[in-house]
Amino acid sequence: MFDKVLIANRGEIALRIHRACREMGIRTVAVHSTADSDAMHVRLADESVCIGPPASKDSYLNMAAIISAATITNADAIHPGVGFLSENAEFAEMIEEHGIAFVGPSPDHIRSMGDKIEAKRIAIALGLPVVPGSDGGLESDEDAHRIAEEIGYPVLVKAAAGGGGKGMKVADTPDDLQQTLEICRREAKANFGNDALYMEKFLRRPRHIEVQVLGDGRGNVVHFGERDCSLQRRHQKILEEAPSPALDQAGREAIGARVTNALAKINYLSVGTIEFLYEDEEFYFIEMNTRLQVEHPISEMICGVDLVREQLRIATGAPLSLTQEQIAYTGHAIECRINAENPRTFIPNPGKINEYHAPGGLGVRVDSTLYSGYTVPPHYDSLVSKLIVHGANRNECLLRLRRCLEEYVIEGIETTVPLHQELLSEPRFLDGDYDIHWLESWMAEGSDE
Ligand code: ADP
Repeated sequence: MFDKVLIANRGEIALRIHRACREMGIRTVAVHSTADSDAMHVRLADESVCIGPPASKDSYLNMAAIISAATITNADAIHPGVGFLSENAEFAEMIEEHGIAFVGPSPDHIRSMGDKIEAKRIAIALGLPVVPGSDGGLESDEDAHRIAEEIGYPVLVKAAAGGGGKGMKVADTPDDLQQTLEICRREAKANFGNDALYMEKFLRRPRHIEVQVLGDGRGNVVHFGERDCSLQRRHQKILEEAPSPALDQAGREAIGARVTNALAKINYLSVGTIEFLYEDEEFYFIEMNTRLQVEHPISEMICGVDLVREQLRIATGAPLSLTQEQIAYTGHAIECRINAENPRTFIPNPGKINEYHAPGGLGVRVDSTLYSGYTVPPHYDSLVSKLIVHGANRNECLLRLRRCLEEYVIEGIETTVPLHQELLSEPRFLDGDYDIHWLESWMAEGSDE
């Protein structure tokens, strides 16, 4: 096992990885910007290195600074966490060139899955169903119009290099499409430095269902069931649950087997997630994330497996320690993403926490960086806490979640806790009867009243 792991991230995920390392007897190195000197991940780590000024591009995205930090602290592995450099193939390669282990997939898999056009091509070759659309990139505007006529409007234009819910736009008519192509091309170039676009049929009422996998790079791949991440705003997840209210055990095993068979063919290494849209009992691949995901804890709660621990084990070259038959599901888990934002407008609201009290009790897990007196810096993503609750069944889980949200005290900044509380009195949510568009329309209705 590794002696020392450098965690190339910040916030709750850095803490999450630190916790797994600690329990495995691995020492940790935190890296941080000057804005994060007081952050909990820095306080808890065995060592810490300041890697630059507040702007992410100069610190958490600064590959040379991070690798230097690993070298001077003698870390034998780097865990990239979520976001930042976690899906950067060049970073993974550089780490390995320095004789340090990268806790993640092979750079080739990161690179090919990071290009969403290429990822769809691979999915098709591996036998996974995809959303109808352009087979590959859009060659020209004429090409786009022809494909849109074939698959039927509305269509969704997407950036090959898009991510984080950004870089996609719907076109309802041919007139719309012309304008959409121009806007998307411009935005893709500006945001991702790559203006390649592709097109998909815009599905009207799908759910977002994703399958968590773990592979050992030797053709052994297991899955941990699915997560339902249909509650979204601007294509970003707000609350996730496992299992999905829309799948039964047979459906779960069927999609899980398709995914593990596909990824075994490419000897996938490390944790990963295949994301699908699910409509009328059909799955459609949309993308693969070659990293740990923010919502991984709900799978851990229903499977009783520490995914980061397994990821670290496999990064040492060890084979899988679990067979598919050993992975059983117990009960139901929900994660609420708690952001330092106004719960209605979602305008970020960083600042000082005057009072903090986290909920607890049976089946409750809080992955958070907050503490009394901490100041949430304005420079980064506004996710400050994840409240994860497990119950024997969905109903027990919902009752426990309601109790926890009542208990949760975060004073000094606005958070999205009230939004989650409101959701918990909404019959459509309580019935599990929602799709990816529902949350936004529900919020729009609420603001009309
Ligand atoms: P990103 O990499 O930015 O997360 P994804 O391709 O994973 O982009 O899509 C993010 C979200 O956008 C999905 O969860 C879903 O809500 C929506 N979406 C993506 N493709 C489609 C589609 N073809 N039809 C309708 N909604 C879609």
